[in-house]
This record gives sequence, C-alpha cells and structure tokens, in this order.
Amino acid sequence: MSVQFAESLPFFESVNINFDKAADLLNHPKGLIDQIRVCNSVYYMQFPVRIKGEIQVISAFRCEHSHHKLPCKGGIRYSDMVNQDEVMALAALMTYKCAVVNVPFGGGKGGIKINPKNYTVEELERITRRYTVELIHKNFIGPSVDVPAPDYGSGQREMAWIADTYRAFSGKEIDALACVTGKPIPQGGVHGRTAATGRGLYFGVREAVNDTELMKKLGMTTGLSGKRVIVQGFGNVGYHAAKFLSEGGATVIGIIEWDGAVHNPNGLDIAALDEHRKQTGSITNFAGGKTIEDGNSMLEWECDILAPCALESQIHKFNAPNLKCKILAEGANGPVTATAEDILLDKGILIIPDMYLNAGGVVVSYFEWLKNISHVRFGRMDKRFEERSASQLVSAVERLTGKSLTADERLMLVRGADEEDLVNSGLEDTMISSYHEIMGIWKSNPKINDMRVAAFVSAIDKIAVSYQQLGIFP
Ligand code: NAD
Repeated sequence: MSVQFAESLPFFESVNINFDKAADLLNHPKGLIDQIRVCNSVYYMQFPVRIKGEIQVISAFRCEHSHHKLPCKGGIRYSDMVNQDEVMALAALMTYKCAVVNVPFGGGKGGIKINPKNYTVEELERITRRYTVELIHKNFIGPSVDVPAPDYGSGQREMAWIADTYRAFSGKEIDALACVTGKPIPQGGVHGRTAATGRGLYFGVREAVNDTELMKKLGMTTGLSGKRVIVQGFGNVGYHAAKFLSEGGATVIGIIEWDGAVHNPNGLDIAALDEHRKQTGSITNFAGGKTIEDGNSMLEWECDILAPCALESQIHKFNAPNLKCKILAEGANGPVTATAEDILLDKGILIIPDMYLNAGGVVVSYFEWLKNISHVRFGRMDKRFEERSASQLVSAVERLTGKSLTADERLMLVRGADEEDLVNSGLEDTMISSYHEIMGIWKSNPKINDMRVAAFVSAIDKIAVSYQQLGIFP
C-alpha cells in the first residue's frame, strides 16, 4: 500500500487538488476546466500470454489524458503495483508537463501489471508484443495518435520490441518508427535521451539558485557552488541529477537507495559510487562515504536541496514536518503528497515541481519523434558547413593578427555541433525559457504562493488556447 493511500487520497485526486488550486485563479468557463481535468480515454485490457507452458492472463492499461494536441505521449510502467488510478494520474501529469515545456503533445501513460523480475526475457518480449497488438487494434498507438516511452520497469529493449511490432502491423507507414520513443540508437533513438531527465533537473535547479530575488526570499546565496544536496534514488534520474549537480559545483552529501544511504559531508564522488554499485549491486559500504542503514531517515537531514528521484509519495504527512531542506527538487513524478505539500509550503520550503523539473525526458523524446518523422539525424545538414565557416573565420583572424592557434585550440573553436550537442542545447534552452515563463506568472500574480500552482496556471492557459483554436470552446 502506498503512503498516498495511507493518507486516504488517491494519486489522481492528489493531482486534481493541485490542478483546482490553479484553475480557481483563472477565469475559464467551468466546462473548459472540466474538459482539461478529465481523462479522455482509458483502455483497460486483459490478454492471454503463454508463460512456462501455461496460459496467464495479463492486465494492462493505456490512458490518454488529453487529446487537445496529438499524439499523446507518456511512458509504460511495468509493475505489479500499477493500477488505473496511478496511470490516470501520471497521464494527467504528462499533459500538464508537455504544456509547461511547450512540447506539442497531449498526456498519456501505460501500465502492464507484472513484476518484470518474475519473467524471462522471452516472456517479457511476448507480453510486450501482445500489449502492442492490443494497442494497435484499439488505435491507442501510432506516430500521430499515441507515442509511448519507457517508464519504471521498462527501457530501450521494450521500446525496440514495440517499434518492431508496430512496424510489422503498419504496412507501408513511412513514419512507423515514430510510434514510440526511448528506442536504442540503431532503432531510431536519439543521442542524449538517457541522461535527459537528470540533465534537465540540473538546468532547472541551476536556474532557480541563480534567481537573485528567489534566493533572497529563501535566505540563500545565489549559485550552485557549495550547496549541499541529498538525492533519493540512484537510478536513471537520480544518478544523472547527482552527476550534473556535482559537476555544476554543488556538494552532493547524500544518496539514498531502498537498501540504505551513503553520506559524505565533503561531497560524494558520484562516478566512483556508480562504479561501486555496478560491482557490488548496492551503494552501501562505499569506501568514499559512511553507510546509513535507515536510508530514508536522510530525507530529514539538514541540506540545501533535497531531490527525491525514486518513486511517488515519498514525502508524506508523517515525514514532511521534519524536512530541513530549503529547496525540494522533484525528480520523480508525484514524490510529495498533497497533504505534505501544504506542510512544506508552511515551512517556507521552495518546491520545484515535477511537471517542470523532470520534463527533460519528454523534451528529448519530442526531439526523437521529430528525428523519426523527418528521417534525418540532427546536425547532418549543417555540421560540416558550420565547421568550414568557423575555420575560415579563425584563419582570417590569424592572418589579421599574425598569431596562430594551437591545433587543439583550433579544433575546439571550429567543431560543428553533432546530434548530442544539439539535443542538449535544445533541452537547456527549453528548461531556461520554461523556468522564466513559470516565474513570470508567479511574480505577476500575488494570489499565487507557490511554483507548482504557477506551473499549473501556465499549463491550463496553454491548453485552453488549444481548445479555443480547435473551436470547441469559443
Ligand atoms: P529507475 O528505476 O531507473 O530508478 C529508480 C531508483 O530508485 C532505483 O535505483 C531504485 O532502486 C530506487 N528506489 C526504489 N525505491 C526506493 C526507496 N524506497 N528509497 C530510495 N530509493 C528507491 O527509475 P527512473 O527512470 O530513475 O525514474 C524515477 C522516477 O522519475 C519515477 O517517478 C519516474 O516516473 C520519474 N521520471 C523518470 C523519467 C525518465 O526519463 N527516466 C522522466 C520523468 C520522470
């Protein structure tokens, strides 16, 4: 049972409480607000798969929260805990997230109710392919309809099976590979996707700590340098967030995993900790820090930035009163329950909301989808042209000044952007511009007293415009 249920508040309701706080500040017609809030389509399926000689009935979901823009976009969770409420909540968050960072998609989410650890690779492939066929039959997948991605328990391998199954069923559809993102590079993936969410989190936190007015309000100095960070979860999001924050000058003093935590007040060596985990299967007993057996107790330790990057509902009404961070950076989806949120805001903690801060993954998924429908690798058209132009410029400066650059200096100046450079640059630009959009809304409306409400206002206004453009709401 998740903590959210211990608080008697289903996840989707928790999302809607936050949505309503923002909607109440706006003057949109009630019908329009209702239409934005509800889930447009939920498909609950049950299908048979042969597992170890026996037929097993698998339950699965796909939820398309909003069709105001197509395709819908969102991951597929492989977990025996997955349920319809969770999928609807996560799909709704995807709708608002896409709107906040100006990605032209509606929100979606899928779930297959299995523990992937209980199945062989062949069985997982059979389940994934059958799930894809069910989606195809009900028109719940396609480059212009609904584009899944990895989520908890799924990754590149599953996305490659989905793309292959869709392609097999879609005949001559030229954009078939754009039916799913998060694919391996040879199957049409994009460079930079794996690190995107953690990198985006870093850009968002960096923007906040460089905001002089905001830091003054929190009684903090500007800049990342020396800021003490604790990260919960050392998976895809948590590892990359810790790596980029640490490279950006922050001191990552603690990492929390399900089986314990590690602490070093002078800063953990993130690459060495990752290596230790690869070798031993755990972050505990790392020589570069002290192991803390009750890992989650560290959520309540003194720090500047706490980044929960594991699962939803980790900060709840029982531990929220004890938190001592000044900034709570939501790497995971829904890590703070609605009740906990009120407690944290009363304590003056800044919450940088998930729907903005962990949007890096969907931003780069959007780039992957663009690459797939345009059938060209980013940088292919202009890299050599850029290099030649820069080289001519450098040569002209050398001629005019009578001075020459070393070979290394010249290489650094004339190098044209490759795919990963362009993807990272697009991500950085998106995170910076979206931050300023949200803060502009917050600062201009005295009735808004937190960043999540400001982000919801940003999302709701943009979705309302889309519905108006569709002519549905005048
Ligand atoms: P992941 O499976 O790679 O990592 C999750 C990590 O959390 C694992 O290392 C796991 O051992 C750890 N963990 C599990 N329970 C824990 C506990 N009780 N305490 C501490 N650590 C625990 O998953 P991920 O892709 O990093 O996703 C993490 C969160 O971020 C999820 O909420 C996901 O929906 C969200 N998210 C992920 C992405 C993405 O691009 N991967 C994008 C947006 C949001």
